[in-house]
Amino acid sequence: METLLSRTLNGFPTFMCFWTVFCSGCHGGEMDFIFDAESYGNIYSNKSNLNGFCERKMKVSSMDLWSVSTEDVIAEFPIDPIKENYVRRVKSCIFSLVYPTPFTSAVQLVAVSEDVLENLLDLHLSVAETNAFLQFVSGGKTMPGSVPLAHRYGGHQFGAWAGQLGDGRAHLIGTYINRYGERWELQLKGSGRTPYSRSGDGRAVLRSSVREFLCSEAMHYLGIPSSRAASLVVSNDAVWRDQFYNGNLKKERGAIVLRVAKSWFRIGSLEIVAQYGEIDLLRELVDFIIEEHFLSISRSDPNKVLAFFSSVVSQTANLIALWMSVGFAHGVCNTDNFSLLSITIDYGPFGFMERYDADYVPNTSDDGGRYKIGNQANVGMFNLNKLLVALKPLMDTRQRQLASQVLGGFPDLYYQRFTELFRAKLGFLGEREQDLTLIASFLNLMEDTKPDFTMTFRQLSEITREQLQNLSIPQEYFALYDLSQHKKFPDWVALYLQRLKSSPGDSDPERRQRMTGINPIYVLRNWMAESAVRKAEMNDFSEVHLLQKVLRRPFHAQKIAERAGYSQRPPSWAKEVKVSCSS
Ligand code: AMP
Ligand code: MG
Repeated sequence: METLLSRTLNGFPTFMCFWTVFCSGCHGGEMDFIFDAESYGNIYSNKSNLNGFCERKMKVSSMDLWSVSTEDVIAEFPIDPIKENYVRRVKSCIFSLVYPTPFTSAVQLVAVSEDVLENLLDLHLSVAETNAFLQFVSGGKTMPGSVPLAHRYGGHQFGAWAGQLGDGRAHLIGTYINRYGERWELQLKGSGRTPYSRSGDGRAVLRSSVREFLCSEAMHYLGIPSSRAASLVVSNDAVWRDQFYNGNLKKERGAIVLRVAKSWFRIGSLEIVAQYGEIDLLRELVDFIIEEHFLSISRSDPNKVLAFFSSVVSQTANLIALWMSVGFAHGVCNTDNFSLLSITIDYGPFGFMERYDADYVPNTSDDGGRYKIGNQANVGMFNLNKLLVALKPLMDTRQRQLASQVLGGFPDLYYQRFTELFRAKLGFLGEREQDLTLIASFLNLMEDTKPDFTMTFRQLSEITREQLQNLSIPQEYFALYDLSQHKKFPDWVALYLQRLKSSPGDSDPERRQRMTGINPIYVLRNWMAESAVRKAEMNDFSEVHLLQKVLRRPFHAQKIAERAGYSQRPPSWAKEVKVSCSS
């Protein structure tokens, strides 16, 4: 059993050994007190949820009737006293005041998210047709009274402290409290240089912006916590990029995504103030984040920092398990790309694994494979350790020890959530002793036969119990068919069917319904995004719109998607698609 457990995680390898090594070290601390994360609640929430109800806002059809502001942020935090926009080392503040740089050429709207506009921002879709909207989402015009801000953060990149990073091409253009009382932070990405641009041009190109726009929305519809994307615009402004860092500089076009999240604070937001010894600022920022986003933690609780840490640990475990459940590799799991609210942010060279491969690395610039899919839980723990280091100045000795124990519990939390998700992916009701074996051996079969990850689970969701029993796998179930070529497949099927039978009253149609509701048929494969990008670069945005539409319902078979081949084996050219950090 032990071997099989290791094998389960072997499917997503190195995690188990890391767990063993880490835990033997961290349990050296006091063991008489077990920190009870449950009593604090692990689910963050937004306090505006409670406050905003009295406001009774309505959806509006004109930008004149709508506004956002950064006033609350400016009132809350120390702001960089220097107002000129030049690259510098910024000290003792959380934000710098800086305006977007408008494009010099005409701007076109590529796409909007109806859901974000209508349900997060209280804007009727028709607003997107107005010039005022285009101006707003392209950084051409800011709201009266709202001073855009760039956030100062640092981070560990590929394992090493990288110093000051910050919003080098993003502007927080305002916060908005909607009719449900939710507070959303609106950020333009690709909107020009800031004090944090280092040697960058402050711009983002169309290809990476299409990918971020589509994937952040797709993740939301897969049920995975993510930043959202309200709109995507493209200009004719030239942006020069060496896409594969091979000296082949090419002219591309500047684009801007309007991104929306409850908060854009990252692990790196706390790291920078801690690294530079700005402890009062660290305390202020942590207090703000707890008060605003971790409602279940009382501000007067002497253990609040520990409770906050505990919550981030468990929510990060949840997020990474969810990524694994859909075969998502973020690509650049640096601490500056890890949200303190444990939502997926900063989409770059991400990828959805196609052929099952725990060593899948989506980012061609990641030579060492540090951020391969099978290492995401490990780097999650690495990043949480960096968070712990940043928070230590706010904790006493005992709290630090307890926090180390909490971090030591990360592998268990991750493993539990991973198991829960894969149990559901296999259609199991309740828990049985043999579940771990069944999950582990299923992943082993996948490891050996390398079928398409998404479609294997989907086709297992669609096939009938009878077909399985007879081992008659229709050829159109290509991924499951590939898997069925394994000599141990019949044995696995027998155990699987036995397990399904152990839930009295569960029918096969019910099982299939459950499974098709959790195993998506459509994910944003790199080749799909690439095809949409190639057309978008020729000003044909039809495929962006098609993908947007399809990925809103990733669990439902759709004719338009079937015609496009989205649930088929990837086309042969898919193998050639490469994604780098260049964006
Ligand atoms: P990313 O790899 O997109 O997470 O970015 C890492 C850091 O580099 C962040 O501080 C970004 O703001 C900054 N950055 C990335 N691209 C650019 C760019 N074109 N101009 C300025 N800063 C950038
Ligand atoms: Mg980033």
